[in-house]
Amino acid sequence: MVVANRLPVDDSVAPDGACEWRRSPGGLVSALHPLLQQHTPATWVGWAGGTGPAPMLADVDGVRMHTVPLAGDDVRDHYEGFANATLWPLYHDAVEQPVYHRRWWEAYQRINQRFAEAAAEAAEPGAVVWVQDYHLQLVPGLLRAIRPDLRIGFFMHVPFPPPELFMQLPRRAELLLGMLGADLVGFQRPQAAHNFAQLATKVLGLAATDRRIAVDDRVVRIGAFPVSIDMAEMEALATRPDVVTRAARIRRDLGDPQHMLLSVDRMDYTKGIEQRLKAYSELLATGHVKVRDTVMVQVAVPSRERVEQYQILRERVEREVGRINGEFGRVGEPAIHYLTQPFDRAELAALYRATDIMAVTPLRDGMNLVAKEYIAARVDNAGALLLSEFAGAAAEFPEAFLVNPHDLEGLKLTLMHALQAIPADLTARMTAMREQLRVNDIQAWARSYLTALDQSGNLVHRLTIT
Ligand code: UDP
Repeated sequence: MVVANRLPVDDSVAPDGACEWRRSPGGLVSALHPLLQQHTPATWVGWAGGTGPAPMLADVDGVRMHTVPLAGDDVRDHYEGFANATLWPLYHDAVEQPVYHRRWWEAYQRINQRFAEAAAEAAEPGAVVWVQDYHLQLVPGLLRAIRPDLRIGFFMHVPFPPPELFMQLPRRAELLLGMLGADLVGFQRPQAAHNFAQLATKVLGLAATDRRIAVDDRVVRIGAFPVSIDMAEMEALATRPDVVTRAARIRRDLGDPQHMLLSVDRMDYTKGIEQRLKAYSELLATGHVKVRDTVMVQVAVPSRERVEQYQILRERVEREVGRINGEFGRVGEPAIHYLTQPFDRAELAALYRATDIMAVTPLRDGMNLVAKEYIAARVDNAGALLLSEFAGAAAEFPEAFLVNPHDLEGLKLTLMHALQAIPADLTARMTAMREQLRVNDIQAWARSYLTALDQSGNLVHRLTIT
């Protein structure tokens, strides 16, 4: 069983006007869906996205959908409030100021309780339950209290901050204890496990190493399990004839530039969109980059649109894109092609294949799956990846063009370096990155996490993971 804030579906309107449910975009969904499909009967417990009574959903690719209902106030105070205006900024180096409200904390407790009860109701005896991410940090502890027979895992997809930041949280002890309800707490990076162990000692006085924490009469194991993507699926997409044709068409539509630069982000202040635009704009201003030769495509899909910081960010990004296009574009030749529509995976694969430079420059990111998808799509071993040192993915790909996105001059220099790199250099780098990704794809991630979680070995044996 997977317990996550969202079910892996979005409602949309079919051509005949009926409501239909489609697999939704997003890092977590992309990571877990292929795994669950191989492991039926599996259940996914989560919120369907609307407010009001829970819709009855059909299975999605053989995975049962167990819906947790949320009212408008729940979404405002739990999802938009405590999860995305308190925890999210705090966990991402406080690049935006975290906001604390007591009523948000009350909602966070209430909703975590609701998820724990839903999981307790749907789980088979002795089931393995894998709780996901920062929205549900209290669920492992709450679930263990109701169903001590379950094997409970928790995985944090976002960064877990150092004690100096985490200590700000008014309810820090409860959050740590909630996670410690799990048998195994997984993080993206070893540093995050280290931070967690330090906090367990500092806040709760527990005996802790970077691998184990003693809680009452139990031992909770902790560790790093960097999440990945389904490389084979992305490779298959990227070699589909219609996708290859589409990639060529994209280049043509952009005016066959010498260089195409692409970024694909959720509209989020952690993604470094403004810093990247500033660097690009300065390169245009100094003439290092010319609009006719080089085209930038920025996909920025709006998210969390009712959270104030996100509204402010979108306005600032759009003003800046407008300014850059006004100043440097020509008729029929904008400097930046700016798109806010979410794209399906085939269109993303075509964009990845079409582009020469993929710029992934977040200020802080748990992993960043887009970077891995780009590598997977480059079956031709071509293309350059400009990658922030502050994305979890950076630890796995030293061959990327690594940058500190706060360092504007460094960002400009590294971008120019990538633009001017010779094909043999790019091929060597991409080949090495693809080898790394092939060995560490999503199946390897699931296998290593679940092997550690389920010491009996039964679960991994049942999974048809090769
Ligand atoms: N994505 C998508 N369509 C889009 C933009 C993004 O399907 O138009 C997907 C993308 O392929 C990736 C995920 O959204 O799998 C984003 O994950 P990432 O780890 O890069 O960032 P997150 O949004 O989880 O912070």
